[in-house]
Amino acid sequence: MRSLARCTRGDPMHDHRRLGRELELFDTDPLIGAGLPYWLPDGAAVRHALEEYIRDAERRAGYRHVYSPVLGKRELYEISGHWSHYSDDMFPPMDVGGEQVVLRPSLCPHHAVIYRSRGRSYRELPLRMAELGGMYRSEPSGVLGGLTRVRAIQLNDAHIFCTLDQVAEEARAALEMIARAYRALGIGAARYRLSLPGAGGKYVAAPEMWRRSVALLTDVLDGSGLAYEAVEGEAAFYGPKIDVQVVDPAGRESTLSTVQIDFHQPERFDLHYMGADGAKHRPVMIHRSIIGSVERAVAHLIEEHGGAFPAWLAPVQLVVLPIAATELPNAQAFARRCLELGLRVEIAEPERGTLGARIRESRLVPYQAVIGAKEAANDHIALRLRDGRRITPQPAEDVLARVGALVDAHVSELWDEAAV
Ligand SMILES: [Zn+2]
Repeated sequence: MRSLARCTRGDPMHDHRRLGRELELFDTDPLIGAGLPYWLPDGAAVRHALEEYIRDAERRAGYRHVYSPVLGKRELYEISGHWSHYSDDMFPPMDVGGEQVVLRPSLCPHHAVIYRSRGRSYRELPLRMAELGGMYRSEPSGVLGGLTRVRAIQLNDAHIFCTLDQVAEEARAALEMIARAYRALGIGAARYRLSLPGAGGKYVAAPEMWRRSVALLTDVLDGSGLAYEAVEGEAAFYGPKIDVQVVDPAGRESTLSTVQIDFHQPERFDLHYMGADGAKHRPVMIHRSIIGSVERAVAHLIEEHGGAFPAWLAPVQLVVLPIAATELPNAQAFARRCLELGLRVEIAEPERGTLGARIRESRLVPYQAVIGAKEAANDHIALRLRDGRRITPQPAEDVLARVGALVDAHVSELWDEAAV
């Protein structure tokens, strides 16, 4: 399917807005509002699988998850610097009981406050705090569309509070997590970008801080062996970034993943930890996101795969195809076993058409389990893969074990060649 996806690249058929509607993944309604898409069950299944993958990868990498509210007092963003550097992208504040409350434009200030909710020791560092949380951007109506430009964003975010000595290793580990995730998702980076500040007053004025953080990120990139390009005017207002760029079928580039170094917010929130020397020290904050916003990540996955997602992400992972009505009870029993295993499964009944027609209808489903009279008689499955490959009929138990293992392994390949 990758080859099919590739040969149709640049084709408007792969526009995620069109596919999103055709495949019933997401939609919008003028009554809810522009830039505020809702997710249909199949889209929600993809999103849920993606979010769970991220949370699991983070847990394994030593991150602890938190939840924080999508609102905060205006003062919180005045301290973080968002109010003075970023308010054009924020929704106007709401007056509530004499206080001004805003929809948050990022999760960092909340995490900084959680960090300082009690004293911290150097023994706790690096402290890796993660959240898949909501944030809001007041995009102008003209640019809104599909899942790529939205006003309500679910961000895969994390902040690592660490010592200066730990920054390079943490940034390197974050880049590795990103590379691993891309392999699982079956996508590739178009290029790595070292995003530097540019001219203008958008950036925090602290030349020494910028020099140090740019040097750190440059070292990480040079040490990684990755080819990258330095681009001015793309940094965050508080610090430089490594951005992982992807390209959509129309050739438009956007940032999916990012690793940023920030000396500014620890200063602004007066964060510290107790060092081994018994004195107070300032931690560095690394902002890092593996897939960026869930909306943009799913848009990219839809376009990259033309709706034929890796099996672990697919809304329906396996379709059961009884050849005739007599095999329907076997199909139902097999579907139940799939469900028990946690697979997302559907039955395409014979009344829906010929076997060929039903297979075509299920062309985006990774695994197609055909059950004819012979298979029904000895509890076998004639498995077909989405890419047209046919697997020699095998005991249902073996097919279940193999498909279950491939899904659990989060691989982008449909089958282990050695086992075919
Ligand atoms: Zn952040």
